Amino acid sequence: MDDARRSEITRVEARTIRIPLEHPTSFATRQVLSRDYGVVRLRTGDGTEGIGFCYGGNRGGELVAAAVRLLLAPLLLGKSALDTEGLWSQLYQDTLLHGRAGSVMRALSIVDIALWDRNARAAGLPLSRYLGATGQATVPAYASGGYYLAGKGPEQLAEELAGYVRAGFRAVKIKVGRLEPRAEEVRIRAAREAIGDDVLLMLDANNAWSDLPTALELMKRYEPSNPYWIEEPFSPDDIENHAALARRTPVAVATGEIEAGRWRHQELLTRRAAAILQTDAAVCGGISEWRRIAAAAAGFGVTLAPHWFHDLHVHLVAATPNARWVEYFPDDQVLNFRRLADRQLELRDGALVVPQTPGLGFRFDEAALERYAVDAWS
Ligand SMILES: [Mg+2]
Repeated sequence: MDDARRSEITRVEARTIRIPLEHPTSFATRQVLSRDYGVVRLRTGDGTEGIGFCYGGNRGGELVAAAVRLLLAPLLLGKSALDTEGLWSQLYQDTLLHGRAGSVMRALSIVDIALWDRNARAAGLPLSRYLGATGQATVPAYASGGYYLAGKGPEQLAEELAGYVRAGFRAVKIKVGRLEPRAEEVRIRAAREAIGDDVLLMLDANNAWSDLPTALELMKRYEPSNPYWIEEPFSPDDIENHAALARRTPVAVATGEIEAGRWRHQELLTRRAAAILQTDAAVCGGISEWRRIAAAAAGFGVTLAPHWFHDLHVHLVAATPNARWVEYFPDDQVLNFRRLADRQLELRDGALVVPQTPGLGFRFDEAALERYAVDAWS
């Protein structure tokens, strides 16, 4: 078989998976009962298969699979999987009317991830190495938790966080912004006391605030607990307030988890709206676009700490000098995607061991896909 035949894309299929949460879980601005995931598999002439996946929201994850089937797959069939740059440009250009952000950009993202996964597998290399790894055996991870659950007070929060520190984590994150200011202050102080002075404490407001005075007033209450960053204080579209808050608080502002495309990230960077970008490769336009954004951020001295999906982002952080943290969910209470993976990442002293098997280093557990699928592969 010649090279062209080997890399020729012969099949692209998508599917929607819906996994209920065992306990309804709340953030500042919303409650989640189940998770939809858009998944894709892409095969080439040599039989190598790449996979991709993204969060498809609380409901309506079918939009992502539909975008793959209707808009993207027809453009990919017969092309070379090695042309990641050319394919990205073509897919982006061809979906301009429906795309640029949201479900269609998530669809483009997961197809792009599947291409990179396929190519790394075909080369027999772990994805991190295929992307030019920095040589680290492990990458730092922070334990992401501290959600609001019915009946969970500061004491239970403190217990949860102390458990992460005992497990070796040097950084933990909690949700903020849902309760009254005084109750929230007590909660954050309990968190700091539970983890001690030497563990980093990240705060995630999930777009809770709509104006600067409110944010400043609350940050004054939070600052004595020495937070490492304040995440998504405002709506992602409210770049001006992110920039204004960044000028007024000593706490680093982090955002970007639902931001797509290099152009919007450029705006965040030039307006100095964030010191930490949490760009998610399964949202922003795939691995190709994530790398462009990371390179631009490096020029601004901005660090990337990508949003969830540790199975994916462990590779990107391991291959990117200005990426530092992988967000890690110690259980599947909130991020239940791990139920779909046939292999779990290894954790060592609060750091994630970079997988050494080809591609992403795991495949979908087909039985789990069947169990939670909303539709069939097509
Ligand atoms: Mg977040």
